[in-house]
Amino acid sequence: MSHQDHDATEAHAPDDGRCSGYQLARPHRPARIVPATTAEQVRQAVVDAAARGVPYAVQATGHGRRAPLDGGVLISTTRMNGVRVDACTRTARVQAGATWARVIEAAAPHGLAPPNGSAPGVGVTGYLLGGGLGILAREQGWAADHVRALDVVTGDGAALRVTAHSEPELFWALRGGGSGLGVAVTGLEIGLASVARVWGGQLVFGADRLPDLLRAYPDWARSVPDALTSSLALLVYPDLPVVPAALRGRHVGQVRLAWTGAPEEGERLVAPLRAVGPRLADRLAGMPYAASHTVHSDPDRPHAYDGDNVLLDGLDADALAAVAEEAGPAAPMRCVVQLNPLGGALSRPPRVPNAVGFRGARHLLRLLSPLDGTDTRAVRALHRRLLGLVAPWALGRSPNFVFGDHPGDPARPEHEPDAAARLERLRRALP
Ligand SMILES: Cc1cc2nc3c(=O)[nH]c(=O)nc-3n(C[C@H](O)[C@H](O)[C@H](O)COP(=O)(O)OP(=O)(O)OC[C@H]3O[C@@H](n4cnc5c(N)ncnc54)[C@H](O)[C@@H]3O)c2cc1C
Repeated sequence: MSHQDHDATEAHAPDDGRCSGYQLARPHRPARIVPATTAEQVRQAVVDAAARGVPYAVQATGHGRRAPLDGGVLISTTRMNGVRVDACTRTARVQAGATWARVIEAAAPHGLAPPNGSAPGVGVTGYLLGGGLGILAREQGWAADHVRALDVVTGDGAALRVTAHSEPELFWALRGGGSGLGVAVTGLEIGLASVARVWGGQLVFGADRLPDLLRAYPDWARSVPDALTSSLALLVYPDLPVVPAALRGRHVGQVRLAWTGAPEEGERLVAPLRAVGPRLADRLAGMPYAASHTVHSDPDRPHAYDGDNVLLDGLDADALAAVAEEAGPAAPMRCVVQLNPLGGALSRPPRVPNAVGFRGARHLLRLLSPLDGTDTRAVRALHRRLLGLVAPWALGRSPNFVFGDHPGDPARPEHEPDAAARLERLRRALP
């Protein structure tokens, strides 16, 4: 054992930053933390936890933590953030704790882009385990479709290289099956796309334009070419000085979009949306892919939140209007509603099948509420009411957008029945 390995397996006093990460609600409460820097240290931590008969959990950024670990060993991968790009094979080799920001930065000089989502601070591993809905998703498909290999440690301390040929069942499961299989990922290889620039940004409409926007947007979003991916956020901005004056305290509909074609064609494609009416903000421009986080401008400051989602096979305008109304200024607490029109490459099967399901879904509806002193039960009661409004179209839910320790819901399973049974068989078979 090297000096470095020895250090990593020593007990570390539980530290708030590593126990919570980005999500401040329900932090882990481990008996010890292993701040791993190598795959071998992760393996040793797993072996050590098994020898002591205690549970372990892995955390990269904390964005997607559901339930806290009580006692046991927390393996923190934040220091495992190395990324290497092979421009010839358009592949990124990524250590398990890397964030998308690191991959975007490493790929950009080669004119390449990873299948990252809206927030560059999200961790690559958790995002890919849950499927991954990227900012160019309608063109590229689910991010998990681009995983080429994984390095993992199983519960008995075996280090496995997982590819379509070496471990086909695990390779299927780890791409979209969620993080419940009980293996620790130590590294991944992912395919990159040739995208150096995108055109896009935000169109923000005020409350007076919302009824027209809600009628026009869903059909528009699915009618445009696959190279245009967009989403609609409905939110009430807090009345705070940090918020731009034009948006402060206002109920808005914010269309976020990214297009990989020519800017002039992008301008032509968004004309029907601009025709909905005057915008509070209209920020569409060409940009290097490395600046594409500005399309969403997600908050990068850690905070506490709870959220849920539903994959839908349809949605009528009245139901969407009712959701907007109930989550609007009269709602008992803040609730950001996000509608992601799917389709395009998201509905096509990947080259090597994986566990991402519900590819026939037409929309993903996401709900997220900050927990700034708000009672979680009251937040969930509001979310249940909103989900009830779209229940007739519910197919399932996306693992990546479940925030908090939500119980299963037979009306919104995270996987289709065959895939759920296959994942359960594998979970039981794994050491
Ligand atoms: C602001 C924000 C924006 C987001 N945007 C998007 C988006 O655009 N598209 C999208 O698809 N998702 C998005 N997500 C959801 C995000 O992909 C999930 O929350 C994901 O689980 C985060 O992974 P993480 O590694 O950063 O978080 P973590 O909380 O560290 O990990 C999440 C889960 O993965 C497990 N895990 C992490 N590392 C490992 C490992 N090495 N081995 C085994 N298990 C591991 C953890 O145990 C945990 O269960 C967003 C979330 C937030 C909060």
